[in-house]
Amino acid sequence: VKRHHHKHNLKHRYEFLESLGKGTYGKVKKAKERSGRLVAVKSIRKEKIKDEQDLVHIRREIEIMSSLCHPHIITIYEFENKDKIVIVMEYASQGDLYDYICDKKNLSEYEARHFFRQIVSAVHYCHQNGIVHRDLKLENILLDGNGNFQIADFGLSNLYHSDEYLQTFCGSPLYASPEIVNGRPYRGPVDTWSLGVLLYTLVHGTMPFDGLNHKILVQQISTGNYRKPSKPSACGLIRWMLMVNPERRATIEEVAGHW
Ligand code: AMP
Repeated sequence: VKRHHHKHNLKHRYEFLESLGKGTYGKVKKAKERSGRLVAVKSIRKEKIKDEQDLVHIRREIEIMSSLCHPHIITIYEFENKDKIVIVMEYASQGDLYDYICDKKNLSEYEARHFFRQIVSAVHYCHQNGIVHRDLKLENILLDGNGNFQIADFGLSNLYHSDEYLQTFCGSPLYASPEIVNGRPYRGPVDTWSLGVLLYTLVHGTMPFDGLNHKILVQQISTGNYRKPSKPSACGLIRWMLMVNPERRATIEEVAGHW
């Protein structure tokens, strides 16, 4: 982790530009380095950190993202922990996948496959390094200036061992697996379920599980009863990734190797 040790505060070395968004803990702003390089800067006010759990999330986001180096994962350049926690990271200039799909309405199969491959290669890399993201969703996949997608927001990520179970209920229920919504211990590579939801939305433009209330949503997810798509695109792979039984669900290697 590259903790910043400059004499001057980070805020004096960057020219802060417009706001890019607001997360659970802090604001993200676009900023310019003296070299002209654009970056995204997340500032977390310490009074926003309510308890130990919040601190764990922020620490994991910094540690895990700093330890990863992949073309489809946002890179953290440096961070500072003074009056505020400040994280300087790679800037993704073209918004998130949610807005991209809303604008485009329908992606071609070719485009959906191209983007999905980028996301899968990043998740594959994470799992190879024993890291589970646990919050994969359209809003956490950002589009950079070169038209490539990058996974962001590792605040709910964790390290895992293949023989251990995790317990924490994490992420958006729309993308959560049957084990998670039912509060059962789950294996690390639970991300493949969320990737199944993501592939469905990329290909079909709607959410597979969209119950009117939480109870119906949990029922749909628990039985794997997703909305039948209007066209057969990627239906075999989606069915494999949305297997209710995690033992039968596609692993990230199987997804990455799928035609
Ligand atoms: P987060 O706290 O990570 O959820 O970020 C809040 C919002 O800031 C996101 O929804 C994005 O719109 C924006 N954002 C976060 N990181 C970046 C980045 N590296 N580049 C561009 N925008 C970002």
